[in-house]
Amino acid sequence: MLLKDKVAIVTGGTRGIGLAIVEAFAREGAHVAFTFVSSEKQAKEIENRLSRNGQIIKGFKSDASSYSASETFVNEVLQSFGKIDVLVNNAGITQDNLLLRMSEEQFDAVIAKNLKSVFNLTKHISKQMLKQRSGSIINLTSIVGIRGQAGQANYAASKAGIIGFTKSISDEFGTRNIRCNAIAPGFIETDMTTVLNDETKAGILKQIPMQRMGKAEEVANAALFLASDMSTYVSGQTISVCGAMTR
Ligand code: NAD
Repeated sequence: MLLKDKVAIVTGGTRGIGLAIVEAFAREGAHVAFTFVSSEKQAKEIENRLSRNGQIIKGFKSDASSYSASETFVNEVLQSFGKIDVLVNNAGITQDNLLLRMSEEQFDAVIAKNLKSVFNLTKHISKQMLKQRSGSIINLTSIVGIRGQAGQANYAASKAGIIGFTKSISDEFGTRNIRCNAIAPGFIETDMTTVLNDETKAGILKQIPMQRMGKAEEVANAALFLASDMSTYVSGQTISVCGAMTR
Protein backbone atom coordinates (compact mmCIF):
# COMPACT_ATOMS: atom_id res chain seq x y z
CA MET A 1 0.00 0.00 0.00
CA LEU A 2 2.40 2.70 -1.24
CA LEU A 3 -0.24 5.45 -1.22
CA LYS A 4 -2.39 4.52 1.76
CA ASP A 5 -4.71 7.42 2.74
CA LYS A 6 -3.13 9.82 0.26
CA VAL A 7 -5.46 11.94 -1.90
CA ALA A 8 -4.57 12.14 -5.58
CA ILE A 9 -5.92 14.08 -8.56
CA VAL A 10 -5.50 12.63 -12.07
CA THR A 11 -6.66 14.67 -15.08
CA GLY A 12 -8.07 12.73 -18.04
CA GLY A 13 -8.56 9.54 -16.03
CA THR A 14 -11.07 7.50 -18.01
CA ARG A 15 -8.76 5.83 -20.52
CA GLY A 16 -5.17 5.16 -21.56
CA ILE A 17 -2.32 6.21 -19.30
CA GLY A 18 -4.62 8.27 -17.04
CA LEU A 19 -6.85 5.28 -16.36
CA ALA A 20 -3.82 3.05 -15.66
CA ILE A 21 -2.61 5.66 -13.14
CA VAL A 22 -6.04 5.82 -11.46
CA GLU A 23 -6.05 2.00 -11.22
CA ALA A 24 -2.49 1.80 -9.83
CA PHE A 25 -3.14 4.55 -7.27
CA ALA A 26 -6.42 2.90 -6.19
CA ARG A 27 -4.67 -0.47 -5.83
CA GLU A 28 -2.06 1.17 -3.57
CA GLY A 29 -4.67 2.66 -1.23
CA ALA A 30 -5.13 6.26 -2.46
CA HIS A 31 -8.39 8.16 -2.67
CA VAL A 32 -8.51 9.39 -6.28
CA ALA A 33 -10.35 12.31 -7.90
CA PHE A 34 -10.10 12.01 -11.67
CA THR A 35 -11.43 14.28 -14.40
CA PHE A 36 -13.13 13.59 -17.71
CA VAL A 37 -14.58 15.76 -20.44
CA SER A 38 -17.41 13.67 -21.90
CA SER A 39 -17.01 10.01 -20.83
CA GLU A 40 -19.66 10.08 -18.10
CA LYS A 41 -20.52 6.37 -18.47
CA GLN A 42 -16.89 5.21 -18.25
CA ALA A 43 -16.36 7.47 -15.23
CA LYS A 44 -19.27 5.86 -13.36
CA GLU A 45 -17.98 2.37 -14.23
CA ILE A 46 -14.51 3.27 -12.89
CA GLU A 47 -15.99 4.72 -9.67
CA ASN A 48 -18.04 1.58 -9.06
CA ARG A 49 -15.23 -0.82 -9.93
CA LEU A 50 -12.47 0.82 -7.86
CA SER A 51 -14.17 2.35 -4.79
CA ARG A 52 -14.16 0.00 -1.79
CA ASN A 53 -14.12 -0.10 2.03
CA GLY A 54 -14.22 3.66 2.52
CA GLN A 55 -11.66 4.27 -0.23
CA ILE A 56 -13.18 6.84 -2.61
CA ILE A 57 -12.51 6.93 -6.36
CA LYS A 58 -14.57 9.74 -7.87
CA GLY A 59 -14.91 11.24 -11.35
CA PHE A 60 -15.46 14.97 -11.97
CA LYS A 61 -16.51 16.45 -15.29
CA SER A 62 -13.96 19.23 -15.79
CA ASP A 63 -12.03 20.66 -18.75
CA ALA A 64 -8.40 20.99 -17.66
CA SER A 65 -7.76 23.72 -20.25
CA SER A 66 -10.26 26.02 -18.51
CA TYR A 67 -8.77 28.12 -15.71
CA SER A 68 -12.09 28.70 -13.94
CA ALA A 69 -13.35 25.11 -14.34
CA SER A 70 -10.06 23.86 -12.85
CA GLU A 71 -10.50 26.17 -9.86
CA THR A 72 -14.05 24.88 -9.29
CA PHE A 73 -12.82 21.29 -9.59
CA VAL A 74 -9.98 21.76 -7.08
CA ASN A 75 -12.40 23.40 -4.61
CA GLU A 76 -14.81 20.47 -5.00
CA VAL A 77 -11.98 17.99 -4.36
CA LEU A 78 -10.96 19.85 -1.21
CA GLN A 79 -14.57 19.86 -0.01
CA SER A 80 -14.90 16.09 -0.61
CA PHE A 81 -11.42 14.91 0.44
CA GLY A 82 -10.00 17.67 2.71
CA LYS A 83 -6.44 17.62 1.26
CA ILE A 84 -4.45 16.97 -1.93
CA ASP A 85 -1.20 14.98 -1.72
CA VAL A 86 -0.62 14.20 -5.40
CA LEU A 87 -1.50 15.95 -8.66
CA VAL A 88 -1.02 14.11 -11.96
CA ASN A 89 -1.37 16.38 -14.97
CA ASN A 90 -2.11 13.69 -17.54
CA ALA A 91 -4.77 15.19 -19.86
CA GLY A 92 -3.48 15.75 -23.35
CA ILE A 93 -4.30 15.68 -27.06
CA THR A 94 -2.56 15.58 -30.43
CA GLN A 95 -3.52 17.50 -33.57
CA ASP A 96 -0.67 16.53 -35.88
CA ASN A 97 0.25 18.31 -39.08
CA LEU A 98 3.36 19.51 -40.86
CA LEU A 99 3.99 23.17 -40.07
CA LEU A 100 3.06 24.29 -43.59
CA ARG A 101 -0.40 22.78 -43.11
CA MET A 102 -0.85 23.46 -39.39
CA SER A 103 -3.60 25.96 -38.61
CA GLU A 104 -3.51 28.52 -35.82
CA GLU A 105 -6.45 26.66 -34.24
CA GLN A 106 -4.48 23.38 -34.19
CA PHE A 107 -1.54 25.09 -32.54
CA ASP A 108 -3.65 26.93 -29.96
CA ALA A 109 -5.77 23.88 -29.07
CA VAL A 110 -2.77 21.68 -28.32
CA ILE A 111 -1.03 24.37 -26.24
CA ALA A 112 -4.24 25.02 -24.28
CA LYS A 113 -5.04 21.37 -23.54
CA ASN A 114 -1.50 20.12 -22.96
CA LEU A 115 0.39 23.07 -21.44
CA LYS A 116 -2.06 25.64 -20.08
CA SER A 117 -3.93 22.80 -18.35
CA VAL A 118 -0.74 22.02 -16.36
CA PHE A 119 -0.55 25.66 -15.26
CA ASN A 120 -4.27 25.72 -14.36
CA LEU A 121 -4.24 22.68 -12.09
CA THR A 122 -0.83 23.37 -10.53
CA LYS A 123 -1.80 26.97 -9.80
CA HIS A 124 -5.05 25.99 -8.10
CA ILE A 125 -3.64 23.16 -5.96
CA SER A 126 -0.53 25.11 -4.96
CA LYS A 127 -2.13 27.07 -2.08
CA GLN A 128 -3.27 23.82 -0.45
CA MET A 129 0.08 22.04 -0.91
CA LEU A 130 1.94 25.09 0.44
CA LYS A 131 -0.32 25.03 3.50
CA GLN A 132 0.30 21.30 3.95
CA ARG A 133 4.03 21.75 3.33
CA SER A 134 3.98 18.59 1.24
CA GLY A 135 2.91 17.34 -2.15
CA SER A 136 3.98 15.61 -5.33
CA ILE A 137 3.16 17.06 -8.75
CA ILE A 138 3.64 14.76 -11.75
CA ASN A 139 3.39 16.09 -15.30
CA LEU A 140 3.03 13.90 -18.39
CA THR A 141 5.41 15.19 -21.01
CA SER A 142 6.74 13.08 -23.91
CA ILE A 143 10.03 12.09 -25.50
CA VAL A 144 8.74 14.25 -28.37
CA GLY A 145 9.17 17.24 -26.03
CA ILE A 146 12.84 16.25 -25.63
CA ARG A 147 13.80 15.40 -29.22
CA GLY A 148 11.07 16.97 -31.40
CA GLN A 149 9.11 15.21 -34.14
CA ALA A 150 8.18 16.21 -37.68
CA GLY A 151 4.43 16.78 -37.88
CA GLN A 152 4.15 17.49 -34.17
CA ALA A 153 5.55 21.02 -33.71
CA ASN A 154 2.53 22.03 -31.61
CA TYR A 155 2.65 18.87 -29.47
CA ALA A 156 6.46 19.00 -29.08
CA ALA A 157 6.30 22.68 -28.06
CA SER A 158 3.61 21.94 -25.45
CA LYS A 159 5.56 18.99 -24.04
CA ALA A 160 8.91 20.86 -23.99
CA GLY A 161 7.05 23.66 -22.18
CA ILE A 162 5.94 21.16 -19.55
CA ILE A 163 9.56 20.20 -18.85
CA GLY A 164 10.53 23.87 -18.29
CA PHE A 165 7.45 24.38 -16.11
CA THR A 166 8.29 21.28 -14.06
CA LYS A 167 11.85 22.41 -13.36
CA SER A 168 10.69 25.92 -12.40
CA ILE A 169 8.03 24.67 -9.99
CA SER A 170 10.49 22.27 -8.33
CA ASP A 171 12.74 25.28 -7.78
CA GLU A 172 9.93 27.53 -6.44
CA PHE A 173 8.40 24.98 -4.09
CA GLY A 174 11.43 22.93 -3.04
CA THR A 175 11.79 24.61 0.34
CA ARG A 176 8.17 23.69 1.14
CA ASN A 177 8.69 19.96 0.56
CA ILE A 178 6.63 20.03 -2.64
CA ARG A 179 8.17 17.95 -5.40
CA CYS A 180 7.50 18.37 -9.12
CA ASN A 181 8.63 15.85 -11.73
CA ALA A 182 7.78 14.92 -15.31
CA ILE A 183 7.36 11.56 -17.00
CA ALA A 184 8.32 11.32 -20.67
CA PRO A 185 6.68 8.26 -22.23
CA GLY A 186 7.91 6.96 -25.57
CA PHE A 187 5.33 5.20 -27.75
CA ILE A 188 2.65 3.67 -25.56
CA GLU A 189 -0.30 1.51 -26.70
CA THR A 190 -3.33 3.77 -26.12
CA ASP A 191 -6.10 5.41 -28.17
CA MET A 192 -3.64 8.24 -28.85
CA THR A 193 -1.34 5.92 -30.81
CA THR A 194 -3.87 3.48 -32.37
CA VAL A 195 -4.63 6.23 -34.91
CA LEU A 196 -1.10 5.90 -36.35
CA ASN A 197 -0.94 3.88 -39.58
CA ASP A 198 1.05 0.62 -39.83
CA GLU A 199 3.87 2.23 -41.79
CA THR A 200 4.37 4.93 -39.15
CA LYS A 201 4.25 2.33 -36.37
CA ALA A 202 6.85 0.16 -38.13
CA GLY A 203 9.11 3.20 -38.52
CA ILE A 204 8.76 4.00 -34.82
CA LEU A 205 9.47 0.42 -33.74
CA LYS A 206 12.79 0.53 -35.60
CA GLN A 207 13.86 3.42 -33.33
CA ILE A 208 13.09 1.56 -30.10
CA PRO A 209 15.96 -0.59 -28.79
CA MET A 210 13.47 -2.69 -26.79
CA GLN A 211 11.61 -3.36 -30.07
CA ARG A 212 8.08 -2.89 -28.73
CA MET A 213 5.60 -0.22 -27.74
CA GLY A 214 5.13 0.40 -24.03
CA LYS A 215 2.04 -0.34 -21.96
CA ALA A 216 0.03 2.24 -20.03
CA GLU A 217 0.71 0.25 -16.84
CA GLU A 218 4.46 0.69 -17.35
CA VAL A 219 4.00 4.48 -17.33
CA ALA A 220 1.65 4.22 -14.33
CA ASN A 221 4.40 2.45 -12.36
CA ALA A 222 6.69 5.47 -12.81
CA ALA A 223 3.85 7.73 -11.62
CA LEU A 224 3.37 5.47 -8.61
CA PHE A 225 7.05 5.83 -7.69
CA LEU A 226 6.92 9.63 -8.00
CA ALA A 227 3.65 9.87 -6.05
CA SER A 228 4.87 7.69 -3.20
CA ASP A 229 7.30 8.22 -0.36
CA MET A 230 9.76 6.03 -2.31
CA SER A 231 10.83 9.23 -4.13
CA THR A 232 10.98 11.83 -1.33
CA TYR A 233 14.32 13.24 -2.60
CA VAL A 234 13.46 13.18 -6.32
CA SER A 235 12.32 16.52 -7.75
CA GLY A 236 12.79 18.61 -10.89
CA GLN A 237 13.46 15.48 -12.98
CA THR A 238 12.10 14.08 -16.22
CA ILE A 239 11.94 10.29 -16.18
CA SER A 240 11.69 8.69 -19.62
CA VAL A 241 9.66 5.50 -19.97
CA CYS A 242 10.50 4.70 -23.54
CA GLY A 243 12.30 1.37 -24.06
CA ALA A 244 15.63 3.25 -24.40
CA MET A 245 14.37 5.38 -27.31
CA THR A 246 15.99 8.46 -25.74
CA ARG A 247 19.19 8.08 -23.75
P1 NAD B 1 -5.49 9.24 -24.57
O1 NAD B 1 -5.92 10.06 -25.73
O2 NAD B 1 -5.79 7.79 -24.57
O3 NAD B 1 -6.07 9.87 -23.21
C1 NAD B 1 -6.02 11.23 -22.94
C2 NAD B 1 -7.10 11.56 -21.94
O4 NAD B 1 -7.07 12.97 -21.67
C3 NAD B 1 -8.51 11.25 -22.49
O5 NAD B 1 -9.26 10.60 -21.50
C4 NAD B 1 -9.08 12.63 -22.77
O6 NAD B 1 -10.49 12.72 -22.64
C5 NAD B 1 -8.40 13.45 -21.69
N1 NAD B 1 -8.40 14.88 -22.00
C6 NAD B 1 -8.02 15.48 -23.16
N2 NAD B 1 -8.20 16.80 -23.07
C7 NAD B 1 -8.70 17.04 -21.81
C8 NAD B 1 -9.08 18.21 -21.12
N3 NAD B 1 -9.01 19.41 -21.69
N4 NAD B 1 -9.53 18.08 -19.85
C9 NAD B 1 -9.61 16.87 -19.24
N5 NAD B 1 -9.26 15.73 -19.86
C10 NAD B 1 -8.82 15.82 -21.13
O7 NAD B 1 -3.93 9.51 -24.41
P2 NAD B 1 -2.81 8.73 -23.58
O8 NAD B 1 -1.98 8.03 -24.55
O9 NAD B 1 -3.40 8.02 -22.43
O10 NAD B 1 -1.96 10.00 -23.07
C11 NAD B 1 -1.96 10.46 -21.72
C12 NAD B 1 -0.87 11.52 -21.58
O11 NAD B 1 0.39 10.92 -21.89
C13 NAD B 1 -1.02 12.70 -22.53
O12 NAD B 1 -0.60 13.88 -21.89
C14 NAD B 1 -0.08 12.36 -23.66
O13 NAD B 1 0.36 13.48 -24.36
C15 NAD B 1 1.04 11.65 -22.91
N6 NAD B 1 1.84 10.77 -23.76
C16 NAD B 1 1.29 9.69 -24.40
C17 NAD B 1 2.10 8.88 -25.21
C18 NAD B 1 1.58 7.68 -25.94
O14 NAD B 1 2.35 7.09 -26.73
N7 NAD B 1 0.35 7.24 -25.76
C19 NAD B 1 3.44 9.20 -25.36
C20 NAD B 1 3.96 10.30 -24.70
C21 NAD B 1 3.15 11.09 -23.90
